[in-house]
Amino acid sequence: MNNYHTHTYRCLHAFGKEEDYVQEAVAHKMEELGFSDHGPFPHHDYGLRMQYTELDDYLQTIDRLREQYRDRIRLYKGLEIEYYRESLPYYRELIDQRGLDYLALGAHSFVDAKGHFKNIFFASGTEDFLTYADNVCEAMRTGCFRFVAHPDLFFLNDFPMDDNTEEACRRIITCAQEQNMILEYNANGYRRARRMCCDGLRHPYPHRYFWQKVAQTDLRVIVGSDCHTPQQVCDDTMRFAYKEVQRLGLNQIDTIFS
Ligand SMILES: [Zn+2]
Ligand SMILES: [Zn+2]
Repeated sequence: MNNYHTHTYRCLHAFGKEEDYVQEAVAHKMEELGFSDHGPFPHHDYGLRMQYTELDDYLQTIDRLREQYRDRIRLYKGLEIEYYRESLPYYRELIDQRGLDYLALGAHSFVDAKGHFKNIFFASGTEDFLTYADNVCEAMRTGCFRFVAHPDLFFLNDFPMDDNTEEACRRIITCAQEQNMILEYNANGYRRARRMCCDGLRHPYPHRYFWQKVAQTDLRVIVGSDCHTPQQVCDDTMRFAYKEVQRLGLNQIDTIFS
């Protein structure tokens, strides 16, 4: 079991330093651990993420730990980051100049059909799923992202299943196939409480509909802990998520670096 979706205290809503996560991963005999804290932007603070001024220290800390633990685990420097078209040069800079090993696309916000900046946690209706999906697809096509974190995040909204929802799933899955993109089955959705929705009692995500569609493809899937405490690196929820991925018959892979 490996994990490439790891947060730290630096994003201001997770707990534990980088080394705490490394020690937990080593204790569970993981071979690879990738850090993907919520990525900052140089000119704008979107909230609930690392401050831009922390970025250098974050990267240097992982470099230092990489050396210190090199005979026990392989560590990677990443960020989970939003996609905004105008930030394309910044993503390239992170990879080409700042030495990041990967970017995970963690799309939470997007610009809706009317040009309004929105968060998917507060979608107005399923038409927002389409613009959300288009934003995810545009991001995939840039080639800057190694995997898509929680590609079915929009299911945290409780709207009846309709054509828009199905179409949003279809667009993301089709584009992922075209781009040979890795999709992340996000365990953290299972840490969020189940609630009664139009389609029954369920966790906000991962959503069965989306992943059953993925299971009909040969898309590569990783399980991401999306841990916000060190104890979550490899917890019961992670083991449950792995079982679900098996049960669904998804094409699960162990590393994002192959
Ligand atoms: Zn977070
Ligand atoms: Zn995350």
